[in-house]
Formats: sequence, structure tokens, C-alpha cells
Amino acid sequence: MEIYEVVKHQINSAAEAMGLSKKTQTIISEPMRTLEVSIPVEMNDGSVEIFKGYRCQHNNVLGPTKGGVRFHQDVNENEVKSLAAWMTIKCAVVNIPYGGGKGGVKVDPTKLSENEVEKIAREFFRLIDPIVGPETDIPAPDVNTNGKVMGWFYDTYSKLNGNKNTPGVVTGKPPIIGGIKARSGATGRGVTLTTANLFNELDKELSGQRVAIQGFGNVGISAAQLLKERGCEIIAVSDVSGGIHDPEGLDIEDVIDYVGEERNLLEGYQKDGVEHLDNKGILTIDTDILIPAALENQLTEEVAKELKAEVVVEAANGPTSIEGDKILKERGIIVVPDVLANAGGVTVSYFEWVQNLYNFYWSEKETNDRLKRIMKDAFDEVYEKYEEYDVDMRTAAYIVALERIEKGIEARDWVK
Ligand code: NAD
Repeated sequence: MEIYEVVKHQINSAAEAMGLSKKTQTIISEPMRTLEVSIPVEMNDGSVEIFKGYRCQHNNVLGPTKGGVRFHQDVNENEVKSLAAWMTIKCAVVNIPYGGGKGGVKVDPTKLSENEVEKIAREFFRLIDPIVGPETDIPAPDVNTNGKVMGWFYDTYSKLNGNKNTPGVVTGKPPIIGGIKARSGATGRGVTLTTANLFNELDKELSGQRVAIQGFGNVGISAAQLLKERGCEIIAVSDVSGGIHDPEGLDIEDVIDYVGEERNLLEGYQKDGVEHLDNKGILTIDTDILIPAALENQLTEEVAKELKAEVVVEAANGPTSIEGDKILKERGIIVVPDVLANAGGVTVSYFEWVQNLYNFYWSEKETNDRLKRIMKDAFDEVYEKYEEYDVDMRTAAYIVALERIEKGIEARDWVK
């Protein structure tokens, strides 16, 4: 199934369960605007190359569109459209005043010099300049983009627009130019808070639960640290090279030290009691909680049949296939969906944007306290729909989001 078809399927399942109006369903079935650009760049060897870029704004009825920009060789229009639609749903689930956007450039930046990547980034932003801005569409980092790239975007935008410093045009900036310190760990923090909210609701102790995490990057590492702080045993983690497992619990700080800033691959990690696993092994390991925090489409039909966790908390975007989802539901395994579980990142991005607009900056504690409140309210609303409609938690989260979007469409009398 094409990835945009997956999004449509998820929206349609919720629409049917809740009786969404045909009008709203039709409006959000296609993105509002997708801009394709061709980015010419003079490479270090003197040749000129063209890179394809996209910015998609799925729907902005609840506020300016918001979402990351990824630099990856597999970027395509369909993927960008799907990720933008998920952002529309995600922002509405946590009730922040945004619609969904996403962007991408089809390039493998690991094969280029920093100077070439900077030229691509600046030219991409120059080409999408007419449709972005703090009140229209606010990009952020995603796969292979980071604070440095956001600094280039911000600088390009400000220089193109009368030299006005406009930090609110992008989030995920370095703190010195209006970024927010808590942003890098925010998604992992949101995943942890959501897991804690679920266990509280189920009247079960989170402390002592065994956790396996696929993907040991930004999100996986912070989730591992914070869940460990709450007394969980992190028994297995993995990256693109495979996984490591210790049924007694990994020494997670030691693993983080080993991985380091350079992101050393886990295949080289050695310690007594630690065994190595392949990538499927981590997903089907004997654990209480499984956190996919790497890529989309990992919990396939085959994996779902063998999965042993009682609870799956989706930190990655779209890690469960439609067939996998169906099997997990039949097997009674609770899946906390991405649009709720990983919404901590966009929520803290929203805080960054608010602070940029006001030129007033909060403490890290204040940011984390506000995040906790938003994640709890969103969890409670989703759980309420989960019980009311007797659906899975993904459908419940979509119902929460679609109800808000529908109200927004009605309140603005959006389509005539
Ligand atoms: P990252 O690049 O920092 O880390 C990704 C991890 O996944 C790395 O450890 C990498 O080795 C591993 N990985 C890559 N390919 C793999 C494979 N085939 N099998 C197993 N592991 C593999 O990325 P991140 O920022 O941690 O994001 C992880 C996921 O979370 C992505 O799906 C992303 O879209 C989603 N997400 C991230 C944020 C955020 O704030 N960073 C917010 C929302 C959602």
C-alpha cells in the first residue's frame, strides 16, 4: 500500500467510527498545497546539479502549518504529503494551534561536503520563501537536518525579508539564536510521559517493566534514559547495525557513553551478559514494552504475529503497517499511536515559536512542566474516546483530532 493510502485508511477508519461529516472527510483527503522546487547548486568540483525539493501544507484550518524538513535520498512527493497529513492529526491531538506541514529534499547529505549541504539548504529555503513564515508555515528539523540547518533557514529567510530577524520562521534552532534547550529530548520525554500515563490508567506500576527500544538515536536515547529514571529495565536497544540484549537490564549510561556524539554503531558494543540481536530479534523479544523509534513500517504482519510485548508505544512515525496493526489489535496488544506518543517534539517546538513571537524565554523546568500538562490532557482525551467508541487507541486519537478539525472548519465556515 502506498504510504498516502495508509494515511487515508487511518483517517477513513476514524471517520466511519465517529460519523465524521462527508464535507470534512473530503476537505482533508488531499493536501491544501504542495510546492515542488528544483534546486540548482554548484558542487565543489565545479559541476551544477539539480536537487528536487518539496514543501507540503496539508491543512491549516487550526493554525499555520508546522512540520520538519528532511534531507534524504528517498524523499518523494507522496512521502512528504503523508508526513504532512500526520502532522495535521498530531497537532490536533495535542491541541496546539497548528495545521500539518512537511518538507524534504531528495539528497543524501552524508555524501556531500558541509558547504554543498549549506548551499542546498539556503537555496531550498529561498525557493519556498513565498509560502513559509511565522504566520503561515513553520519548518523544523527532521531526518538528516538539525539546528545548524535551521540556523541557515532562519538566516536566509530574514535576509530575504527586509533583514528583519524572524526566529519564529523555524523551530529546532540552536538556543543562542532563539532555540529551546529542552527540544532535543522532548520527543523521548513525551514518549516517556505517555507510557507513564498509560500505566497509570491501567493501574499498573511502570517501575520494573522491561523495555526494548528499536532505534537508538535522538528519540530512542532520551526515552531510554527517562524510562530508566522511572525504574524501568531497558533490556534491549538497537540501531541500523542490529541490537544488544541483556535480560537483567542494560547499563544504559554505559551504552550511551559508547554510542557517543559520533553515534558509534551498537554492533561494536561488548560487555559481559550482553548478547547481540538482528533487527527483527529486537521487535519480537520477550519484553513488557516495545518502543519502535527508528523508521516507518517495522511492525509488519509477520512481526506482529510474533511480537511478545504487552504494550507498543510508537515513537517513530508510522512504524506499524495496516496489517500489523490489525493483528496486534486481534491479539489484544495495546498500541499507543505515534500521533499521540511522539507529539512531545512538536509541542516543545510550539513553545519555541511562542517564545520567539514574544521574545520572552522560559526556564527548562517551565517548558517540561507545560509539556507534561499537554501530554496528560491529550492522553486523557484519547483514552476517553478509546473507551467511548470501543476502538483501538490510534482510531481514538484520530477521532480526537478530527472532531477538532471539523469544529474548526465549521467555525470558520471554511469552504463555500
Ligand atoms: P535519529 O536519526 O536520531 O535515530 C534513528 C535511529 O534509528 C538510529 O539509531 C538509527 O541507527 C536507527 N535505524 C535506522 N535505520 C534502521 C533500521 N533499518 N533498523 C533499525 N534501526 C534503524 O532519528 P530520531 O530523531 O531519533 O527519530 C527516530 C524516529 O522518530 C523517526 O521515525 C522520526 O520521524 C520520529 N520522530 C522524531 C522526532 C524528533 O523530535 N526527533 C519527533 C517525532 C517523531
